[in-house]
Amino acid sequence: MEVGIMNNQSLNTKTCIVCDQEKSEGIMLYIAFVCSECEKEIVQTEPEEEKYKYYIDKLKVLNQLTHS
Ligand SMILES: [Zn+2]
Repeated sequence: MEVGIMNNQSLNTKTCIVCDQEKSEGIMLYIAFVCSECEKEIVQTEPEEEKYKYYIDKLKVLNQLTHS
């Protein structure tokens, strides 16, 4: 039985909920994946920054998903 190479690749990458790109390194937050680059961005972003709100909105969606 042949297992395709394509399958192999999709096992190692997950779609990041912040940047919507497929990455192999990152963390699982609840049921969603955040790549290590976005994780770093979030950690470095100050709450006063406009970006921060964007990240929080993304994470709020997750919260709703896991609590509904
Ligand atoms: Zn990302």
